[in-house]
Amino acid sequence: MSTERNRLISSAVGNLALLVVLVGVGAIYTATGGSARELLVTDLFVNMILVVGLQIFIGNTGVLSFGHLSFATIGGYGMALLAIPATTKALTISNAPFGLSGVQVGITVATLIGIGVALAVSLAIGAVVARAPGLAATMITLAQLFVFEQIAKVWTDLTNGGGRLSGVPGFEGNGWPIAGAAIAIVVAVTFRSSRSGRLAVATREDELAAGAMGINVMSPRFVAYVVSAAVVAFGGILQVRAVGSVGPEQFNFDVTILILAMLVVGGMNTVTGAIVGATFITIGKEVARQVGDGAFGLPRFEGLPDLFLAGSLLFVLVVVKRPNGITGDFDAGRLAARFLPTRQPNATPILPDQRHASAASAASDIAAQVPVAVPATAALVATNLGVVFGGFTALEGVDLSVDAGQIRGLIGPNGAGKTTLVNLLTGVVQSTTGDISLGGAPVSGKPYRRARQGISRTFQNLRVFGNLTVRDNVDTAHLIALRYRANVPGPSVDVLLELSGLTELADRQASTLDYGNQRRLEIARAAALRPDFMLLDEPTSGMSETESMVMVDHIRTLAGAIGAGVLVIDHDLGFINALSERITVLDQGRLLAEGTPSQVLANPAVIDAYLGTQA
Ligand code: ADP
Ligand code: MG
Repeated sequence: MSTERNRLISSAVGNLALLVVLVGVGAIYTATGGSARELLVTDLFVNMILVVGLQIFIGNTGVLSFGHLSFATIGGYGMALLAIPATTKALTISNAPFGLSGVQVGITVATLIGIGVALAVSLAIGAVVARAPGLAATMITLAQLFVFEQIAKVWTDLTNGGGRLSGVPGFEGNGWPIAGAAIAIVVAVTFRSSRSGRLAVATREDELAAGAMGINVMSPRFVAYVVSAAVVAFGGILQVRAVGSVGPEQFNFDVTILILAMLVVGGMNTVTGAIVGATFITIGKEVARQVGDGAFGLPRFEGLPDLFLAGSLLFVLVVVKRPNGITGDFDAGRLAARFLPTRQPNATPILPDQRHASAASAASDIAAQVPVAVPATAALVATNLGVVFGGFTALEGVDLSVDAGQIRGLIGPNGAGKTTLVNLLTGVVQSTTGDISLGGAPVSGKPYRRARQGISRTFQNLRVFGNLTVRDNVDTAHLIALRYRANVPGPSVDVLLELSGLTELADRQASTLDYGNQRRLEIARAAALRPDFMLLDEPTSGMSETESMVMVDHIRTLAGAIGAGVLVIDHDLGFINALSERITVLDQGRLLAEGTPSQVLANPAVIDAYLGTQA
């Protein structure tokens, strides 16, 4: 996809350019001072690798990990055990298992094996962490950190325990850390643009909505975890080489907090945030140390570096109050994109001269071009659906049968169970009784499975992917459609945006849209999945009467373009009446009536139960 390619290239160029600037500044700084300055610059780039590595997991998935630095420990020991001269090891760990005390390989091979061992371990832990819900995942990673620290302490035959392993081959100058930082940056921006990276970000933005779009939260999280582990291991290896030795507490909880602080301060959502955070804290701590040590004739104050750290964190957490840090989600790629020639996406049926036409006329032109999708073939049938919430029967004995391609209205007083019915159909809530089928095939399991099977939805309380652009919101669902709904033809992302009146807003961050546009975006995203059925929960809520009436055509056009049926909940009876072919009425968790709009709205029981309460 060329848009994503453009973004990948500009992000790589932008962030590498930022690295080049920092390398330049570092070179000037070291040229004018002694070896202490060179060590600070080493520290900066090694920290940067660790922070960028951590960003890959934490930044993209939104799951906090305390455990990743154990991969620095594993990688560090792995490399050290292989690269330390056998003669040195004979003195410290002569009883090392696997005959390791006699082994000695070149530093590059040792580095690759060290990363490989960390990767292997991350596959096992990642499989567990990716399956665990948010807070549990974080607790597992915390345990992970302490477990590996303990292993390094007590497995003295292998690690020499607290006595450390020294004699690790170091490096001259800062070539390795700089190259390492460049590699970390390229890996991180590549991951962000990969399928896994894009799906991971969607789960970060809204796990529930991601599931409803067919994303199995576990898999992108797992990939992010493993890639992140490899980069952190690489950073750990370089840190160990810079120090010349490795010990059990080299990457302990304190260091973890320091690295996390860099990520939070810089802004965890972007690679640029990680780079800036590492730079800001590394330099800031050094300045605080020098000032604390009495530089410029100031009084000594040894706690200053810690105070600086605490202050930086507070600045982000309290004053700025956002996970976007000091970069505010800005990625250097956006700056680079201005200077890079970009190719226009070419997969769009929109003619170039229509691109800038007014939205309205373009929309109608596009609408005329939309290939009429294959006629809808799958009927949605539910029998005897019911659910009990801790003794409260929210829904009972509900039968629903919607023909393929039909637009069905679902109405009922507040608390009637309309949203609950959609939750049961989509698997957000597990039903106590009943069966569901789509096109004759049974529907069951987690929401992401049902979405892939052909049921997509919107939410009563808007759930767009707020930090993503409008286009990316739709694109994410399109990615899923390409893999799991490939046999269903459907309009491109551009056409969907155009049909939804969102073309002009395509590059805007979704959270900055007004209510109406967010609702339209959510529907476009649901349609991008190419479902057999779209379940829309109050799509006109918060809209004016005129907007609601426009929505009637809008939903019809979209549903027609993808050949989907629609189940639509709304309080606006005028809207439901105009849109629906048939209407189902719920009251107090039971089916009250079903029929054509005129039948239903004339039904005395409906007037009594539903309209009566409105009057
Ligand atoms: P509607 O969408 O028709 O306004 P809902 O389906 O949201 O109504 O809710 C139906 C009833 O079920 C309400 O009384 C609501 O409080 C209850 N309910 C819905 N979801 C849950 C839940 N997860 N746990 C407990 N009660 C719930
Ligand atoms: Mg509701």
